[in-house]
Amino acid sequence: MARVFVETYGCTLNHADSDIIKAVLKHEIVENEELADVIILNTCTVKGTTENRICDRMKSLKKPFVVAGCLSANEKKIRDFAPGAPIVGTSSICLVNDAVKDALAGKASIYKKFQSKENLPKLLSAPIMRIPINDGCLSSCNFCQTKLARPFLRSFSPKTIVRWINESVKHGAREIQLTSMDSGAYGYDVRTNLVELLELIANDDSKDAQDGYLVRLGMINPDHAKKFLPDLKRILKHRKFYKFLHAPVQAGSEKVVKEMNRDHSVRDFADIVNTLRSEIPGITISTDIIVGYPTETEDDYEKTLELIRETKPEIINLSKFSPRPGTKARELPQLRTEEIKRRSKKATDLIAEINSETRKALIGNTYRVLITEKCPDYKGRNINYMQVVLKGFHGELGQFADVKINNANHNSLFGDAL
Ligand code: SF4
Repeated sequence: MARVFVETYGCTLNHADSDIIKAVLKHEIVENEELADVIILNTCTVKGTTENRICDRMKSLKKPFVVAGCLSANEKKIRDFAPGAPIVGTSSICLVNDAVKDALAGKASIYKKFQSKENLPKLLSAPIMRIPINDGCLSSCNFCQTKLARPFLRSFSPKTIVRWINESVKHGAREIQLTSMDSGAYGYDVRTNLVELLELIANDDSKDAQDGYLVRLGMINPDHAKKFLPDLKRILKHRKFYKFLHAPVQAGSEKVVKEMNRDHSVRDFADIVNTLRSEIPGITISTDIIVGYPTETEDDYEKTLELIRETKPEIINLSKFSPRPGTKARELPQLRTEEIKRRSKKATDLIAEINSETRKALIGNTYRVLITEKCPDYKGRNINYMQVVLKGFHGELGQFADVKINNANHNSLFGDAL
């Protein structure tokens, strides 16, 4: 039995894979590298900076390690930095014990054979539990390298997802994060769809789940959100769901969105936002935006700023474009780095200004908050998935508290527990 440390990078889906890896391992899981005999790097390649950090990590590691996650799609890159490390593909994580054995033996093996994750165990966590609903997506965006590492849509069965939710709630989870590369693509490969799944979750009244938990719907592309909008409006009003929608628009220019090969228009995104805001007052809209896409002109960029001013998403994950190996966008003539930095800075300032305004408007309100973190202050989420930092709470993580908001900044609301 070896001592294994699992080091995870990237998105909620990759963290959910680490929960499966930790449950599958027939070894002792340790909390840091110092205690470990072997390290598993569960990697991410969505941004060049993250990939470079992981490559430096591989170069500096003195202990045996395994490379899993999205970088596993780029064997040549891994071999440049880790000629002796076993590689485990994103669809082969049930073979991680063989890879650990190989790492200890210094054997540079590769595990890429598809093995379903459907019946694999998962490490249960509380009060927040990540539940993957599908791997892969149905799109092929010209900037995306994740698609190369997770090329096929693979959905978990609704039965497995509901079972995982109930096991997690029984284990103390009170916030369920449904995660996927695109939850809108859920189920097309198993003759169901996202709406059917969410209805099943909403109507699931098994005893364990009566303690009151909240479900956060994961990232959904606007083309799917538009198709499901009548049902999404209804389902997001259900008491089990956070009033929250994360729909990546990526740019504010119709021209650029088309050149990114996205399956939606900017107008689709704006219409979804306006509809949900009128149907569910206070709902939190989250989106992803890339600035500096190779074909983005100054005018296109201004359209992105205009969209931010018009729709005021409460959460914006802003990224500077970085050309990813193997993607079409990498083959295009690139914008100057300084120009991309200038655009990113200006957009970041605008976002902070709008987010601060939006949150300051909520001062004086009282919310029921699910307490999920203590670091060092207690933090939680109100029903609109807005982050609340609170004082005067003396209960446990996973409990709800009524909180009077007395301050705010661009990122959080602040208040006192009543
Ligand atoms: S929807 Fe596009 S950006 Fe998202 S994972 Fe799929 S290909 Fe990548």
